[in-house]
Amino acid sequence: MAESVHGGARLRVVSPPQPLLQVDNVSLEYRTAQRVVRATHRVSFDVHAADRFVLLGPSGCGKSTLLKAVAGFVPPAEGEIRLDGQRVRAPGPDRIVVFQEFDQLPPWQTVKQNVMFPLRQSARLSKPEAADRAMHYLDKVGLAAFADAYPHTLSGGMKQRVAIARALAMRPKVLLMDEPFAALDALTRRRMQEELLALWDEAGFTLLFVTHSIEEALVVGSRILLLSPHPGRVRAELNSHHFSLASQGSAEFQHAAQRIHQMLFEAPVEPPATHDRARAAGSH
Ligand code: ADP
Ligand code: MG
Repeated sequence: MAESVHGGARLRVVSPPQPLLQVDNVSLEYRTAQRVVRATHRVSFDVHAADRFVLLGPSGCGKSTLLKAVAGFVPPAEGEIRLDGQRVRAPGPDRIVVFQEFDQLPPWQTVKQNVMFPLRQSARLSKPEAADRAMHYLDKVGLAAFADAYPHTLSGGMKQRVAIARALAMRPKVLLMDEPFAALDALTRRRMQEELLALWDEAGFTLLFVTHSIEEALVVGSRILLLSPHPGRVRAELNSHHFSLASQGSAEFQHAAQRIHQMLFEAPVEPPATHDRARAAGSH
């Protein structure tokens, strides 16, 4: 914040807060011996603290790759990713990823041990500190009673709640979720969306969430970035904080979903090309 004197009047110039996460003109590529696959092309977006920012696009448009790049696993071929103004160069405990339910939890550890493990390893908490924090977050996701259970005894939704508790317990600057509910049945999925929003209300974290479901993007997101099919480019950015699970059936929600569908899947009109073809064919 800076103050300046201008024309005799005191003018307070307030600089807007720096975004927590900046993805700046980022292209991502996979290189194999034969060829280079471009997953995203010059994608830019800013995530502010406490945003629920959703990356939405069809399968193969590079959403997972973008999330891996933010996590620090995939270096950009061009552009830059910054967290709190610092360039992201490697994975770190300030960015934790939650994937689909499968195989996230080592089966030989109890629920509580699963949540404690990264707290001991990466956050370097003492055993009692890690145990306290693990129980605090297990309680938040409603699983305190299952602390001593093994993962194979839990339902898909419960396993996913353990994974979310484990991630939140690390108190990351950004929680990264890659289609976390895609493998769950419709009812469980809905309940998990509800719980995630309740947790966000209570714990106040910053979320970067990937999905290919338009409805899920509208329900979960406060802002949505639309990505075009392969390679992913930014189509549009939308505000969606006024939608919730409760508004899902409303006319406004349906209309927004339809508009997004059009933006994602209807090819942009290219009048000049049509015109040239028409002229070349001598059709008027
Ligand atoms: P999404 O998550 O949106 O479905 P991905 O980020 O998984 O998309 O993939 C983006 C593109 O990169 C796809 O065309 C995919 O085939 C390609 N891709 C993903 N992973 C690899 C890999 N390990 N090697 C080569 N190409 C890959
Ligand atoms: Mg993916």
